[in-house]
Amino acid sequence: MRRRIVAGNWKMNGSKDLVKQLVGAIREQAGSVGEEVEVVVIPPAIYLSQVGELGAGSVITGVQNVSQWQAGAYTGEISADMARDMGCGYVLVGHSERRQMFGETSKVTADKVSRVLSSGLVAVLCVGETLDEREAGQAEAVVAEQVRQGLAGVSAEQWSNVVVAYEPVWAIGTGKTATASDAQAMHSEIRKVLNSMKAPANEISVLYGGSVKADNAAALFAEPDIDGGLIGGASLKAEEFISICRSFP
Ligand code: 13P
Repeated sequence: MRRRIVAGNWKMNGSKDLVKQLVGAIREQAGSVGEEVEVVVIPPAIYLSQVGELGAGSVITGVQNVSQWQAGAYTGEISADMARDMGCGYVLVGHSERRQMFGETSKVTADKVSRVLSSGLVAVLCVGETLDEREAGQAEAVVAEQVRQGLAGVSAEQWSNVVVAYEPVWAIGTGKTATASDAQAMHSEIRKVLNSMKAPANEISVLYGGSVKADNAAALFAEPDIDGGLIGGASLKAEEFISICRSFP
């Protein structure tokens, strides 16, 4: 089903106090967010149970990364089954920070998507071009390839648990947002690629990420192929995050 989703990716930020403050505020104001909007909080995994307890009934939790393996001697890793065990609904896969700083290849990304889907969770595949790739006119080709490779192993019955997040690398944490029309153009391309993979493209939520703020969310979410946002910095400020959750037309 095509859902409206606003997901806050806290990255490696937060503390017990911030969880209390942020999740408490989201819970208090949850009633002001459209019922059809899924509000997802993706904290560092160590805070999951705290977020889950405080946000119960108001937020869905997610993790920022899982292992490509099921279980075993992989020190420092957490598994998709553990994320499900802790009540998570969503898992980010292939965030550009994982690809760039932790050397995650397309193969590893595809393996993680398969692992997440086998665990019955929603995989949010993150894709996006760098500034050099955009300036070289390769943005569409790069993103199309990331979608094809990342989702190559998805079976027909698993598509309902797939979400794609378009996050141009040059827009992440830079304050530079893609214009609503540029983002819309890429989202439309992504849907064409999904269609070419025999996926139910019109049923798959495609989120935009990269410097989404309270003052640009409404323009982005008004575009026909933008189903919500993946929010970094602005998800660490309660009022701003809630205001983004309220920015659907
Ligand atoms: P910013 O919203 O801080 O640009 O981060 C976007 C992001 O990477 C979310 O996953």
